[in-house]
Amino acid sequence: MSIAENYLKIRREIPDTVTIVLAGKTRTPQEILEAVEAGATDIGHNYVQEAEQMCRDLGEQANRITRHMIGPLQTNKINKALHLFDVIQTVDSLEKARAISLRAEKAGKTMPVYIEINIGNEAAKSGVAPDMGTLEVLVAEMAKLKHMQVTGLMTMGPLTGDPEDSRPHFRKTRQLFESLQTLAVPGITMETLSMGMSDSYRVAIEEGATMVRLGTVVFGARSYNR
Ligand SMILES: *Cc1c(COP(=O)(O)O)cnc(C)c1O
Repeated sequence: MSIAENYLKIRREIPDTVTIVLAGKTRTPQEILEAVEAGATDIGHNYVQEAEQMCRDLGEQANRITRHMIGPLQTNKINKALHLFDVIQTVDSLEKARAISLRAEKAGKTMPVYIEINIGNEAAKSGVAPDMGTLEVLVAEMAKLKHMQVTGLMTMGPLTGDPEDSRPHFRKTRQLFESLQTLAVPGITMETLSMGMSDSYRVAIEEGATMVRLGTVVFGARSYNR
C-alpha cells in the first residue's frame, strides 16, 4: 500500500479524537508531502536540523502542518526549536523547562510543552520518573513559568516485541495524566496524552492515548543510510 493509503486506513480505524503525529525521521520531503496531501496534520521531528530542512523543503506546505519536537532537545538548540515547532513533547526537567521559558520570553512567545515520562524507569531513557510526588513538585514549579504552557504528557515506554507488554506502562501513564488533571494546578492543563508508536498504538489508544506517534506503519521500514 502507498503512504497515503496507509495513513487513511489508520485514520479510519482509530477514533477521530486521537491525533496522529507522523514521525518524520529519515523520511524524504516527498514522503511527508504524500502523507500531508492525504490529510496528515501533524509531523514529529527528533532533531532540530531535520525539522529545519523539512520546513525548507516543504515551503508553503509546511505552514499547514503542526510540528512537534519528539526527540531530546539540547539547550543550545532551544532558540531554533522555538520557531520551528508548535509544541515540544520532551521536557524532562525543571532546568530544561526554565531554559525554554527564558528563551521563549526573549522571543516574545509562550511555548506549549508536554512533560516526558520515563514510564519504565529505564536508566538509558530520558523522561521524568513515573512518580506522582516528583511530578507534583515539577508541575508546581513549571506553572510559575510565564512563557511556557504545560498541556500534556508524553511517553515512549520500554520497547519490547509484544505490544501487550506496553499496556501496564500506558495505563500507568494515563493514571498520572488523570491525577494531574485532578490536581488542577492553575496554569497547567492536561489535554494531550501522547503515547503509542507503530507497534503499540492500538493498545495505547485502548489505554487512553489522545495522540499517537507513527512512523513505520505509515511510511514503511526505516533505512538509515540515505
Ligand atoms: C520514531 C519515533 C516514533 C515512531 O516510531 P515507529 O515505530 O516508526 O512508529 C514515535 N515516537 C518517537 C519519539 C520516535 O522517535
